[in-house]
Amino acid sequence: MSHHGRAGAKVHGFVNPPVHRGSTVLFPDCESRKAAAKQRYEQVLTYGTAGGPTHHMLEDMIAEIEGGTRALIVGTGLAAVMVPLLAYLKAGEHCLMPDSVYGPARNLADGLMKGWGIETTYYDPTVDEAGMRALLRPNTKVVYTESPGSHTFEVQDIPALARAAHAAGAKVLMDNTWGFYNFQPFEHGVDVSIQALTKYAGGHSDVLLGSVAVNTPEDWTVVKTAASQLGQFASPDDCWLCLRGLRTLPVRLREQAEAGLVVARWLEGRPEVLRLLHPALPSHPQHALYARDFAAPCSLFGVVLQPRYSEADAEAVCDNLALFGIGASWGGYESLALPTAPSITRTARDPGLGGPAIRIHIGLENTEDLIADLAQALDRLPR
Ligand SMILES: *Cc1c(COP(=O)(O)O)cnc(C)c1O
Repeated sequence: MSHHGRAGAKVHGFVNPPVHRGSTVLFPDCESRKAAAKQRYEQVLTYGTAGGPTHHMLEDMIAEIEGGTRALIVGTGLAAVMVPLLAYLKAGEHCLMPDSVYGPARNLADGLMKGWGIETTYYDPTVDEAGMRALLRPNTKVVYTESPGSHTFEVQDIPALARAAHAAGAKVLMDNTWGFYNFQPFEHGVDVSIQALTKYAGGHSDVLLGSVAVNTPEDWTVVKTAASQLGQFASPDDCWLCLRGLRTLPVRLREQAEAGLVVARWLEGRPEVLRLLHPALPSHPQHALYARDFAAPCSLFGVVLQPRYSEADAEAVCDNLALFGIGASWGGYESLALPTAPSITRTARDPGLGGPAIRIHIGLENTEDLIADLAQALDRLPR
């Protein structure tokens, strides 16, 4: 993490590489330009949209972290969701998506993809291998996964789903943002791993970026062709900020995840709380799957209040917090709290949370201060 993707002697010994901005790439003669163009999709500089040295350093680093052979950098996490979906699906084909999928991915499936004649079925994220086999159709080309699920944190049995999908000739795409650095997608049967680098990779709430990692030359050509036809590009300045964020990822992630567990365990003991939605807690329904597949958690989880409380009460808790910001996204150094019920859309199965829920992201503040802040906000709820 700290030595990968560094330019060394090429930058006069400075620790960090410079930012390379550029559109036009000049060649000494036409012959060398033709030779470069033949090496399509390699890390050869032909024109700015194909990426430059700053992109390539970040691509190498993400491929290393995800455990794949190549990675592609795009402008947002949502672009990283879009590129492989559009790359592997065409009119008349079928896509399976977990009911707990990140909301904007659902919007894409129900919006543009539907208009282009691609059908999507939403499935219960906790489905087992036989259940997945029953959902697959002859024209199913993509089994999309996201584990744990957005807002509700169901852990999926990725290897089982991948076995069923591959037996039916479908590709397995996974939004691995929650498991970044801690879940090795290609060891669990995933073909294409999607990251919102906006989250812990950037780590400072100042970058929007996404990545698509693959593990075969064939998949690389498919996703790179789609990204290039779709004009996907990321700013080199953002790539540079992300590279810089990644240098401290392991310590940030470890510190935040540990603090997150302390806060989650404390919340679990509070009388206002019905249950926690945290895969690393033994009380989580799919804790065994989490323990089998993930090396560690991150610091994003949910808390469900007792059924006697309303969504307005959940909002009041968030409003009364002083150290937690109210806002979208996560993975930065600051703690966040967000009532989640309004953002939960389900068409396959009611997640049955049992009460109003709040999504918590733990940052790098003092853990005792965060707990004291949560305590005073919960104390103000009606008894
Ligand atoms: C944030 C997020 C995205 C999208 O990332 P953006 O950079 O905000 O577009 C995709 N998937 C998950 C799970 C996310 O949390």
